Amino acid sequence: MDCPVCRNAMITLELADVEIDYCTDCSGIWLDSGELELLLGEPEKAKQLLDSFKIDTKSVEKPKKCPICDKKMQKVIVGSSKPTLLIDRCRRGDGLWFDSGELQDIVNRAELDKDNKIKKLLADIFGHSQQN
Ligand SMILES: [Zn+2]
Ligand SMILES: [Zn+2]
Repeated sequence: MDCPVCRNAMITLELADVEIDYCTDCSGIWLDSGELELLLGEPEKAKQLLDSFKIDTKSVEKPKKCPICDKKMQKVIVGSSKPTLLIDRCRRGDGLWFDSGELQDIVNRAELDKDNKIKKLLADIFGHSQQN
């Protein structure tokens, strides 16, 4: 699968038993549909988070293309906290794209990661990528 930002092949990483696609160039992360829920491990909270997504029709960010169906993804606003956090979502529901740092940001804001499990795993990933 190619990164929707830099078009390089992404690598597969295992994060808390969930396979995620990660771009070593831009540190972006692709999660297939359902993987965010698995990653968070709390279906109820994950659902609340997903339900909080609002489509941003006014975004000036250039749309990215879904790495699965190659169609333009839509920008969605996560939650209501400021500054506004935008991520990319496939219109067909293939999955979600997180630019560098956005997944951590969501996890932090949603207070979904009480024991810092995901943060530690992500820190591992970014630690490795900086060494290379
Ligand atoms: Zn990339
Ligand atoms: Zn798609």
